[in-house]
Parts: sequence; structure tokens; C-alpha cells
Amino acid sequence: MDAPQKSPAELLATPVQFLQGVGPHRVELLRRLGLFTARDVLFCFPRDYQDLTDQREIDQLEEGRLQSVHGMVEEIELRSTGSGGSVLGVLVRCNTGHLRAIWFNQPFMREKFSFGQRVMLSGKPRHEGLVWQMSHPRIETLAEDEQAPAGKIFPVYPLTEGLQQWQLRKIVCGALETYTKLLDEVFPAEYLDSHQLWPLRRALPEIHFPSDHESLARARRRFVYQELFILQLALAIRRRQQHDQRQAPSLEATARIDARIRRLFPFELTAGQEQAISEIAADMGAPLPMNRLLQGDVGSGKTVVAVYAMLLAVAHGYQAVLMAPTEVLARQHALTLEELLSHSRVRRAQLIGGLTPKQRSVILGQIADGEIDVVVGTQAIIQDDVEFKKLALVVIDEQHKFGVRQRATLRQAGPDPHYLVMTATPIPRTVTMTLFGDLDVSTLRDMPPGRQKVNTYLAGEDKRPRWWEFFRKKLGEGRQGYVVTPLVEESEQAAAASLDETYETLANGELEAFRLGLIHGRMDPAEKDAVMDDFRSGRIQVLVCTSVVEVGVDVPNATLMTIEDGQRFGLAQLHQLRGRISRGKFPGFCCVFADPKTEEAAERLKAFTSTTDGFELAETDFKIRGPGDLFGTQQHGLPPFRIADLLRDQELLDEAHRDAQTLAAADPGLSQDQHAKLRHMMLARYGKALELGDVG
Ligand code: ADP
Ligand code: MG
Repeated sequence: MDAPQKSPAELLATPVQFLQGVGPHRVELLRRLGLFTARDVLFCFPRDYQDLTDQREIDQLEEGRLQSVHGMVEEIELRSTGSGGSVLGVLVRCNTGHLRAIWFNQPFMREKFSFGQRVMLSGKPRHEGLVWQMSHPRIETLAEDEQAPAGKIFPVYPLTEGLQQWQLRKIVCGALETYTKLLDEVFPAEYLDSHQLWPLRRALPEIHFPSDHESLARARRRFVYQELFILQLALAIRRRQQHDQRQAPSLEATARIDARIRRLFPFELTAGQEQAISEIAADMGAPLPMNRLLQGDVGSGKTVVAVYAMLLAVAHGYQAVLMAPTEVLARQHALTLEELLSHSRVRRAQLIGGLTPKQRSVILGQIADGEIDVVVGTQAIIQDDVEFKKLALVVIDEQHKFGVRQRATLRQAGPDPHYLVMTATPIPRTVTMTLFGDLDVSTLRDMPPGRQKVNTYLAGEDKRPRWWEFFRKKLGEGRQGYVVTPLVEESEQAAAASLDETYETLANGELEAFRLGLIHGRMDPAEKDAVMDDFRSGRIQVLVCTSVVEVGVDVPNATLMTIEDGQRFGLAQLHQLRGRISRGKFPGFCCVFADPKTEEAAERLKAFTSTTDGFELAETDFKIRGPGDLFGTQQHGLPPFRIADLLRDQELLDEAHRDAQTLAAADPGLSQDQHAKLRHMMLARYGKALELGDVG
């Protein structure tokens, strides 16, 4: 009797052990790569390609073009160079001559070669003396009896120990032949046509074994678009759901209210501030909760924008709260508010550490009774047990931290408040569109007028005397300065200049004639306050500190910044620190002492000295480290991309974003028949991470 026919879906779920070329011992290796079924193998995209379209004999090589040769390993030499580096040279004998492959500072590459081994090399050759040379070519070892693959672009898959590239290629190739025809297209046919996307069954074989560069580009476009589109669709639909389910007070910025608020500001707003305020006012005027990210470099004037939003809430008889991540920052904000609101009738309170239980309970009572309009405090304290009478706006100052997903849970009955999140770390646009895709974004690109530029120097140990001499001269002219050391783990205490040590050394040496203060995270709030007050008033001339506590400090007379062990700071952090000294009418001077031990650190420090534009630095940081690192994959909770690359695929992201908006508007539940497969795919991938529930 015949077994019942299997459906395509069942066939695609065939376990890998039943695929051609997979014996029992390989099953385990494939599993290690996350490949369990035939479908997994089909969608195991190459991480790179080896371009063998131009394969040559040695006597046909041309300089500077990507070409490939094959031959046998004849010599292997690993030399160390003076400065701790190494050069690996591998001489390969080919039919009509020799070629030398070299690798700098990659001694581990030595392990890949053995004498007599057959290899393919591809790269751009150069004629060095008598012999052709390729530096850092792509290599591939060939089995004893294996033909050199010819004339094609070959996939390079992620591997695991014990599995060879050619073996995986064979497995994928076999799976493509058997299973491609069973795959279902997610996009309707007209959609593919109108968006110039290749159908799945055409694109899949070409992404694995491209016939030429053009086909590879088309195939890749199809998969990248799909990946970005599905995410953008999920984000668009989530946003619609939230709008449907939530309500917030509608707070219109009438001309009278607007004029009353502006009277409090002692300066003209910048164009960026105006734009942000109009975006925020439009959001808050609607009966849906605002969900907006306000990004702007340190000193771009975000606080004023936040104050506008808070006063808009107060003008309508509601309460607003401003939360900061640290005590020092919360106090800074409280001070700013005091200055701006001292002539207003707005009732203000601070919820910051150091209150007695009695004081605290009085304030809590006033907040609950609606006798306080505006509350400023640290996140921790406010989230504790504060109950509001009529809260309409929550402003969260994240500074350089990204906890956006983790919403504050503030207690109150009735409608939701509006949310405004501020960040001083400029975020690349592609990242806001993906990881923060469900937030609206306002950006302050310009600085308030009259800002002085900051001069940045990267210095080695030998420059110390000169820097301190300059530092003393400026202190003598009445300026103030910071000396920042990295926060170090106990275990590496020995390796880095510790805070106390730095303080002692300076106080008894280079800066002994000046008044120094010390501030760090382990001090109690009252002590910190006293030090900060002394610094603000000028009683302390030089503040020795770690990076964590002091972000957000606003002391315009401080124009000098010394950063110790600069290689230990991230680019965003360095930039934040430099932002401390660009606040007043005097130019700033920032000196970074650093000993970059890795290429990445060197690149970072070079970028830091080359520009003061935070958005430019954010893009560079993104290029050096990639988005995963910048945000920590777990933190945003979305699965990583399989093929899209936010740096490379910006244009496709824009396209996918627009198309997703259009589709979500036309069919918000994706309930039309032709969208059923898209809906299914979207829920499978993002339903859980984005709490989409069922969209139907
Ligand atoms: P951020 O929070 O974005 O780092 P702040 O809001 O603290 O920046 O503003 C930095 C400084 O610039 C403050 O001293 C503030 O009073 C001032 N400032 C803000 N907006 C303007 C403006 N439009 N014109 C002049 N000064 C401004
Ligand atoms: Mg600020």
C-alpha cells in the first residue's frame, strides 16, 4: 500500500539526514550550524562569495584585477616583524610559474596550509620583484582529486569544524535541485512585477550559485527587500494596533498657550528646536499617546524642547514628569527647570535621593493630590511607588543608554500619558528605522548660536608635560577643567590608571597649585552634590572623575578635558565627554591620552579627532562596530538579519519602508487573501518579539 502523499510543507521539513550527501556523522555538524531541515539548508545564505569568473595561468595575470589561480603549496614562512606584528608568506607553484600569498598580522592563517596541498587563491595580484604576489587573498583548499572549480562565482558558507566548504556546497546544491520547486511565493505576482523583484524560485538558486554578477545582485535584492519589508510591515502594523488600543489626553498648543510658554525662554529657539516642538505639539494635540524619540547632540538644546512639552501638559491642567538615569543628571535638569520656571506659577517637585522619609511622603501626597505640576527625578525613584493624579506626559532622558523598549510603568488610572524619550547619542537613520521603528523621531541637528569649537588632540605619553603646561595656563586664565579616567573592573584595576591614583598624582604634581575635586559613583548623593556645587561655583577648578556619573553636567566655564586611557572608551562616550566643554563662550580643548592596542581602537580614536559632528561619529561607529554591537541584540529583542546589511542596503530599506507603510494603510489587518502569506511570515518572525498578537 502506498504511503499518503506528503504536502510541500512536510517535504520541506524533511530532516537533513535524508538529504543527498549527508551521512549520519554530518547531521551533527549541520545541526551545529542551525540546519535541521531541507528548508533550513535552502535558506542558509552564503556569507560571502568567491569570484572565480576570471581564472588565469600565472603568465596571463594582470595587475590590480580580481583573478584566481590554482596550484600547490611549496613553501610556508611565518616571520615576526619588529613591532610585534607578523608576516605569513605562502609560495604556491602553478602551471606556468609561482605566486606568493602574504598575510600581515594573521599568524593563525599558518594553520590552514600544509606542504603539497592544492589550493585556489583569488585576489588582486601585484608584481613584486620577480614574483607575483597577492596580499590577503581568499583561499580555498581543494581535495586531492578535485577539479579546480572554473568560471563561476562560488558561495562561501559559514562552516563549523569538520565540515568543508565543498561538502556544504554539494549538500546545498542537491537540496536546491529537489526542493526549490516546492517553495511557495509570499508576494503576489503583480507585486513582484511592479517592484522589480525576482520570484523566489528564480532568486534562490542564483543566491547560492550565481550565473554572473548581475544575477547575484538581482537575487540578493529580492531577499534583502523581503527581509526588510517584513520587518517594516510588522512595525507599521504594531504601530497601528497601538493607536487603535490606546488613548491619551489631547493637548492642543493654542496660540495663547504657545505664547505663554515661549515668554519663559530667554533666547530664540533654533530651527531644529522649532521643528521638534511643532512635531511634538502635533502629536500631543491628538488623542493618541505620543511615542517620540528626540535625538540631538550634547548641548543641542533638548531640555528646552522637553520643557515646552511639559508646559503644554501643565497648561491643560495635567502633570508632567521628567526622569533622568542618574542623580547628577536629575539635579541638572531640576536646576534648568528652576531657572526657566522661577517666574511662572508652575508647581515643581524633585524626587531625588537624599530626601528624608517624611519629606518624601509629603511630596508623594502632593503629587497624588495634583498639587504638583512638574516632577523631576531619577528613573529608579519615580518608578517605585509614585502615583499621579493627572499625568499627561513622561519625558525620559536616556542620555547614552538605550532602554527605549523598557517602558516606564507609572501608575495612574485613566488614559495613557504621552511619551518623549531624549537621547544624546545620535543614532544612524537606518537604525532608528529598524530597531526603533515604532518610534517617531525628531532630530536636532543644529547647535544654539555662539557655540565655540572644541580642539581635540590625541596624545602619547611623551606629550604629557606640554599638555599639563597648557592646562595650567588656561586654569590661570580662570577656566576650569575635567580629568576623566575610565571605569574599571576590580580585576583589571592594576592595568588602568585608577581614579584615586590619578587624583593623588595630579594633586601632588602637575596640578598641585590648583583646587582639585574628586567625584565617583560610590560617593553618597550628598557628597556628590557638594562637589558638584563647588565645581559649578568655581571653588573647585579641576574635577577628577569617571565617565558614568557626570554626563549631562553643564558648567560653561569648564573648557578643558583630559581623557586618560582613551582606548577604553567607546566613540559615543568620548563624544559625550567632549560635549561637556563646548557649552560656553570660550573655546574648548580636549586631550585624549591613549595607547590603542587594536586596530579598532585606533580607528575609533582617529575618527574622534577628525570631527566633532555627533551624527558623523555615529555613522562611523556604526561602520566600525556594526549595529548589533551598538545596541546589543538582546536589548532590542529582534531576531538578527539573515542577509540584509543596514550599511549597504540603505536604499532598499527606504523602499521597503515606504512599501510597508502603503500596504499597512491599504490592508491594516493583512486580511486580504493575497496577503495571507505575508501575514503568516510576518507573524512567524516578529509576532512574538513585537507582541503583535493576531493581526486579523
Ligand atoms: P542638551 O540637553 O541637548 O545637551 P541643553 O538643553 O542642556 O542641551 O542645552 C544646552 C545649553 O544651551 C543650555 O545652557 C541651554 O540653556 C542653552 N540653549 C538651549 N537652547 C538654546 C537656544 N535656542 N539659544 C541659546 N542657548 C540655548
Ligand atoms: Mg541635556
